[in-house]
Order: sequence, then structure tokens, then C-alpha cells
Amino acid sequence: LLMAYEPAKRLAKLQVQMERAVVNARMIYEILDMQPHQREKPGAADLAVTDASIEFRGVTFAYGDGEKVLKGIDFVAEGGKTTALVGPSGAGKSTVITLIPRFYDPSSGEILIDGQNIADVTKASLRKHIAYVSQQPYLFEGTIRDNIRYGRPDATDAEIEDAARLAYAHDFITAQPLGYDTPVGENGVTLSGGQRQRLSIARALVRNAPILLLDEATSALDTESEAAVQKALDQAMHGRTVVVIAHRLSTVIKADKIIVMHEGRIAEEGTHESLAQRPDGLYARLNNLQPAAQNDLS
Ligand code: ADP
Ligand code: MG
Repeated sequence: LLMAYEPAKRLAKLQVQMERAVVNARMIYEILDMQPHQREKPGAADLAVTDASIEFRGVTFAYGDGEKVLKGIDFVAEGGKTTALVGPSGAGKSTVITLIPRFYDPSSGEILIDGQNIADVTKASLRKHIAYVSQQPYLFEGTIRDNIRYGRPDATDAEIEDAARLAYAHDFITAQPLGYDTPVGENGVTLSGGQRQRLSIARALVRNAPILLLDEATSALDTESEAAVQKALDQAMHGRTVVVIAHRLSTVIKADKIIVMHEGRIAEEGTHESLAQRPDGLYARLNNLQPAAQNDLS
């Protein structure tokens, strides 16, 4: 009984540490379902996922009383496909992503998953189907194993190791003297940027959610880390509905659909081939600015 209780206790302790650290909502969500803060409709049904397709219909949004940062967003992220959001900084890409797990609700318009308005379903059921990998992966006090388990508190050790293998993290983990029991965070070992990202991807993989929201890292990783992170992401993206804020041209080119955002609107939409052929288009201009495959697209 004690042993079964242990992970829950550790998790509770962590939750306290997180609250003390005032980690921002996006970071917390990356690992745990937050308790709902927004209103939930009385008698809301659970989200029923089939294809995990996502549709934005006429979505506008303002932070608080501020100006509209989304000014009418319409698009479909098809189930099992990758949709890349690109565009200049401040265009509204991150805001679009934060509306999907309902960190915020649209000012007007609606967001549907498999035809169900996400405002009408329970938040727990919505978030259960979503994994989120943030731009700056956050590690908590605890072991490497704990850090991956936050993706799904009831994951077994075997499931954690499977996820780590898929995320190309198993080898660097087992190279640590204490392996999966190695402490990380402020009082633990220091991991490289690429290693932290792979742990964060393992966390998303163990969650095994059909929808993956990905804010691609802009930070320059060394070539080896870059390749390992890319392979880990390819694994995580496989077979899922992915909405990725893409900074690397290599990610953009592989996407099934590219949405080019500018000042809170969708400026263009299409595949890399179709968009690159419009000489006056924003995408073509962004694209031309990128001589190397790994340059930052925003
Ligand atoms: P992108 O990801 O394309 O760089 P964002 O969605 O982060 O764009 O930001 C869109 C606009 O919303 C920007 O003008 C930004 O300053 C503003 N913004 C982003 N987050 C917040 C916030 N939490 N509160 C107020 N304004 C914000
Ligand atoms: Mg952003």
C-alpha cells in the first residue's frame, strides 16, 4: 500500500513546489491537467474523439480589455495530419495554440474538435486528448522518471522507458550514474538543451494523446542534439493531429498544410510548393529570407 501511495505523494509534493514557483499556465499544462478555472457548462458531455480534427470558425480573441490579437481565424487542422503555423513574431501563433486546450476562450467564434464545440465539453476530457510541448521545456525537482511520468501519472516504468526510447532519450538517461533515478531540476544534474527537449517529448509521448501541440524551439542546438530532437519529434508527430508553430524550414516543408499568420489574421494557406510559387506572398518572402534549412522562420 505504501508503495502504491508513493507516486501520488511525490506528485502532490511537486504540485506544491510548482505553485511556489508560480510556473506559468502553459508550463503547468504541459505536464498535468490543470483544475478547471473557467466555467464549465452544467452537464457538459465528455469530448468524443474520432479523427481528432480541429476546426477554427471565425475565432477572434483579445487578452483582457486589450486589442484583438486574433481577428477572425478560420482553418481546419485535419485529423492525423500536421498543420504548421508560421509568420512574424506577434502574429498570434502561440495564442491560436493556447485556445485549443482552453487556457483562454475565444471572444467570438468557435473551435470544434470532431464537430464538438470545445466550450461544450468537460475540460478534463478535452485536455486528456491533448499533449503540449512548449518552446522551453521545464524540468521539475525530482528524478528523470518522475519528469516523464508527469505526462501521465499512472504510466508504468516500462511505459516510461518506451517513451524515452522513442524520444531518443533512453541512451543519455542510462548513461547517468543513477539512470532513470537521476535527480534533475535545481538540485539535480544539469542537462543540455537538447536533452531537456527530449525529456519533454518523452513526457508528451507517454501521454499518448491524439492531438499534439508543439511550439518548436528556436534556440540553436548543437548538430547532434538537433538531429536527435528532430527524430524524437518525428516519432511524437507520427499518426497524431499536430499543430506546430514552426521555426525550422525543415518542419514547414514536411507539414501537410501551412498557415501563414500576420497581425492576427491568416494571410495565406497551402502547401510549401503552392505557397512558394506565389512570388508576392508573405510565405515566399519569409521563405526567401531563409538560406539554410535550419534558420528561424519567424
Ligand atoms: P506569436 O506566437 O505569433 O509570436 P502571440 O500569440 O504570442 O504571437 O502574440 C500575439 C499578440 O498578443 C502579441 O501582440 C502579443 O504581444 C500579445 N500577447 C501574447 N500573450 C499575451 C498575454 N498573455 N497578455 C497580453 N498580450 C499578449
Ligand atoms: Mg509565439
